[in-house]
Amino acid sequence: MAAKRDYYEVLGVSKDSDVAAIKSAYKKLAVQFHPDKNPGNKQAEEKFKEASEAYSVLSDAEKKAQYDRFGHAGMNGGGAGPQGFSNFEDIFSAFGDIFGGGGGGFGGGGRRARSGPPRGQDLQIALTLTLKEIFSGVSKKIKLKRYNKCKTCEGAGGTGKQTCTTCGGAGQVRQVQNSFFGQVVNVTACPECAGMGTQIKSRCKDCSGHGRVQEEATISVDIPAGVEEGQYLTLRGEGNRGPQGGAAGDLIVIIHEQKDEFFERRGADLHCSVEVPFTTLTLGGDIRVPTLEGEVELKVPAGTQSEKQMRLRSKGLPELNSHGQGHLYVKLHAHTPQTLGARETELLRELKTIWEQQPKGFMDKAKAFFS
Ligand SMILES: [Zn+2]
Ligand SMILES: [Zn+2]
Repeated sequence: MAAKRDYYEVLGVSKDSDVAAIKSAYKKLAVQFHPDKNPGNKQAEEKFKEASEAYSVLSDAEKKAQYDRFGHAGMNGGGAGPQGFSNFEDIFSAFGDIFGGGGGGFGGGGRRARSGPPRGQDLQIALTLTLKEIFSGVSKKIKLKRYNKCKTCEGAGGTGKQTCTTCGGAGQVRQVQNSFFGQVVNVTACPECAGMGTQIKSRCKDCSGHGRVQEEATISVDIPAGVEEGQYLTLRGEGNRGPQGGAAGDLIVIIHEQKDEFFERRGADLHCSVEVPFTTLTLGGDIRVPTLEGEVELKVPAGTQSEKQMRLRSKGLPELNSHGQGHLYVKLHAHTPQTLGARETELLRELKTIWEQQPKGFMDKAKAFFS
């Protein structure tokens, strides 16, 4: 993979461009390279993705500050994971304000404030689900700590505004650090004003002027059937609220699948293994096998060999976002009894004797007979 291009270079903007300039630069590229306008053009698709990623970082004050400081290394692995965008659906949902919504298309769209309070951070939470929950889909309650709007000041942080005394209104502070490599100057978002350059004159006592307070929230989330390990859902606006009236970030719920003791999952199919008495395999008969919906009956044909795999149609997991359903594969494993009663021993000895007295090649004939 080629090295990642600098985000500013990708959008063709300078480091001190404001949000409006960044957005306008992105919009131009997005219109030019939009996959709808360039069907089947891989290069355009790549450019579009690259621009979208750059915009997602540079348009977010917190992420921008982190990028300015650490470069790509500071961006949680860049293109992968919940912070990155693995496909187009994600890109579109993340940029709904530009592409969707009021039908404004590329030309229209609402004007945003030139600059404003930064958006709050996204929160990530892992949700562990059993196969049974994945099978049926489930509604879960998630408890989390997050920042929410301060009710006392309605998120304003207080009354009156003045230039930030820490950064003098620049919104950034420089820190000189001594390291192995000599002096390093770091430019970061001002911690006092969170990059806004202004401060509240008369601060709200309940939130110390931040406009937000930490709360414990319980959020309901509906998980559709068929989800897989590592997939995630984005709950818009359920993350941390930004300081001083900034919009809320998202809550990203990452699916973690609890390992099942009995079933092994392979995509939408399930695999399991059951022990069957060798007499049942030999003579045939009905056995009961577990599924995620309870036990079902399975007909074992006479002369079934050990390790034979049988398929139970549509007894696997539902496929996400489709009407398809996986199958359940049951491996039949011959069980050898380890303790026998006197009568059992007697019968098996007799059987053994009969089989030993058969002319050579009997077992081959028996195989042919049973199959
Ligand atoms: Zn307050
Ligand atoms: Zn400041």
